Amino acid sequence: MTEITAGDIVECVDDTPSRPESQIMPDLGALYIVTNVRALQDGKSVRLKELTPSCWRGGVCACNQCGWDAGRFRKVYRPDGELIASFLCDVPEDVSEDVSEDTPEFV
Ligand SMILES: [Zn+2]
Repeated sequence: MTEITAGDIVECVDDTPSRPESQIMPDLGALYIVTNVRALQDGKSVRLKELTPSCWRGGVCACNQCGWDAGRFRKVYRPDGELIASFLCDVPEDVSEDVSEDTPEFV
């Protein structure tokens, strides 16, 4: 299996929660951009640009330590460096729980 690294575009191949607290899961077959990969003792923890994981403390992750198992994802391709930079710069500093889109596109 190809290593997944930050900036890669990956497909979710396993969306079955492995723990009861894993309530936020990527969608099977959907594509995501990896923003961070952390090596753990028993695998790798992946963070995505599009989705904030559930937290072991409960709720949406605000500690920035949580992520999904890298085995849930299959690498699709790696964009060029410039594109990756634009993805990674785009990661919001404050991980807000407010994901509602109440700002209308058209008024
Ligand atoms: Zn967390």
